[in-house]
Amino acid sequence: MTTVPTARTVGFQSGERNIFFHILTACNLACRHCYINPGQHGTNTLPFETVRQWLKLFAQPERQTNLVLLGGEPTLHPELPAIIRAAKSMRYAVTVDSNGYLFHDLLDRVSPRELDYLSFSLDGPDAAVNDPIRGEGVFAVCTKNILRAVACGFNTSLIYTVSSLNIDHLHRMPALLANLGIRRFFIQVIGLRGNPAVKKPDAGDSWQVAPEQWLTVVPEVAAAAARLGIHTTYPKVYLDEEESFQCAGIVADNFFVFPNGRVYRCPLCEDHPIHSYRVEENRIVYRNTLTEDRFFLLNIPEGCVMNRLLQPDTIQYHPDGTPMHRISCCLLKQEIAPLV
Ligand code: SF4
Ligand code: SF4
Repeated sequence: MTTVPTARTVGFQSGERNIFFHILTACNLACRHCYINPGQHGTNTLPFETVRQWLKLFAQPERQTNLVLLGGEPTLHPELPAIIRAAKSMRYAVTVDSNGYLFHDLLDRVSPRELDYLSFSLDGPDAAVNDPIRGEGVFAVCTKNILRAVACGFNTSLIYTVSSLNIDHLHRMPALLANLGIRRFFIQVIGLRGNPAVKKPDAGDSWQVAPEQWLTVVPEVAAAAARLGIHTTYPKVYLDEEESFQCAGIVADNFFVFPNGRVYRCPLCEDHPIHSYRVEENRIVYRNTLTEDRFFLLNIPEGCVMNRLLQPDTIQYHPDGTPMHRISCCLLKQEIAPLV
């Protein structure tokens, strides 16, 4: 009998913290589904000393704190290696999320021991699928640099953002990842923020995939990746009947930090000036106004309240008006580990 790896829901871990730190918003690419919104997030690049001070504000060395350094494209920051070292000295577990271009010779200026994970983004298993979404020539550059990073000994992961443009090609990713030597695979669902909030992929199309398609395709691909030895994570999205709803904004410690000083607790809110905190004069200041956290407390049959408010098209209803599915927190994950 063949043993099949099974997915488990990763509940929000009490005590664990995640800091998603956008150190700049500039990028060399112009992905069609880019979620960066310069009107809301600014266009500045934080100087090294400011990054170091903000890292100190969020550091809690006594607790497991994961730091994800993002942009824009974070490797465009010329002092990224110094930022990584400063973060490690504050006991963060550090991941860099790159589009694969690895500017400023990152692989030569940081050692695999200094960086917990180097994460790459690809949205297709070949150039024909990936490049119309992320840009001409991106697949070739990204895969070449993944191979270089793996050869240098870095732990590598890969993010694939599932949308109507690429879900039909997701099943070809596990074989590619195994060939590239990727250790972890993160399947994401497209969010309607940044470009997707204002522009459909093509006239009349939708970015999002139907629930049935998601539930048929994604868990199976995740299991296939796990069978190839790749640890795979994907968003829960649809709660089972017996599962209770939890909002990470209430029960978990996640902070999404932008270079204009905005600090959100919920990524769905990032297109709107309803952030919970601001970094001001080197302090984290709670904003006593209509902020995202006031919404987290609303208990609705659809599950996630921000999804109901900002992405209502994702919810389908029975004729009696009750929702067909409850939508989980976008930060609730399913994890499927390789059998060893
Ligand atoms: S790589 Fe990221 S930041 Fe750059 S355009 Fe693409 S989605 Fe936007
Ligand atoms: S996605 Fe929904 S459930 Fe999760 S933090 Fe945001 S509002 Fe809360």
